[in-house]
Amino acid sequence: MAAESLRKPLSAFEQEVRRIAESPERFQHPRRPFTARGSFIRRCSGCRMPEDFCICRFRTETRSDAEFWVLMHIEEVNKPTNTARLIGDTLPSTRVFPWQRMSPPQAFIELLKDERYQPFIIFPDDQPDYQDRVVQDYPQARKNQEHKIPVFILLDGTWRQARKMFRQSEYLQELPVLPVRSNRKTSYQLRKPASEAHLCTAEVGIELLEMAGDKEAAQVLENYFAVFNQGYAAARRQKQADLSEAMQWLLDYQQSN
Ligand SMILES: [Zn+2]
Repeated sequence: MAAESLRKPLSAFEQEVRRIAESPERFQHPRRPFTARGSFIRRCSGCRMPEDFCICRFRTETRSDAEFWVLMHIEEVNKPTNTARLIGDTLPSTRVFPWQRMSPPQAFIELLKDERYQPFIIFPDDQPDYQDRVVQDYPQARKNQEHKIPVFILLDGTWRQARKMFRQSEYLQELPVLPVRSNRKTSYQLRKPASEAHLCTAEVGIELLEMAGDKEAAQVLENYFAVFNQGYAAARRQKQADLSEAMQWLLDYQQSN
């Protein structure tokens, strides 16, 4: 299994996450030992799944007209259950920046000034004090901006961390806020959300791609996310999963692209 994963180079996103995890700024943060359930399991060096349930062969790249920039809370970088990496694996243009309150991500802040992009911060519209920034109609917001690449900025952390990131980051305060309105119920089982309507990062990505009209990229990510969930379910049962519909879909897609 490990040999298989080594044949496939890591996505640029994943390489950057690992660089952040090893970087000196990471160590300025008080390090809590990673004692979550399952932290002792041997994991694939590629996909970080429990070793016997590696999903590397299903990792499938595609493209999208939109880009994702992930602001990742520093405590998130070592968590194998993070689903932002599924977006990074699927869309090679995805970028990731570490979020720490005391050291703003300079590269990210520079990128916000780049005229080639039209960035949106993805966040619920449930508080009154920033309603003037809320985008009600995405196609309308894209009008006359079609020459720019739409960018979805994702705040990646626990729900509490994401709120903090949204509130405490000066450089986010001018950006249009794009809420994800969806009837989807989360199918992510690795962390318990406060409500079924709280989607994980990969699910938010699927919804945004659909909203942006990028059906194909949405489908690739949807199937890859399904395979990720199936891998964890199989690991819990300690029984290899049969080739699922989502797995077959991705293999066929790889063949035809
Ligand atoms: Zn793997």
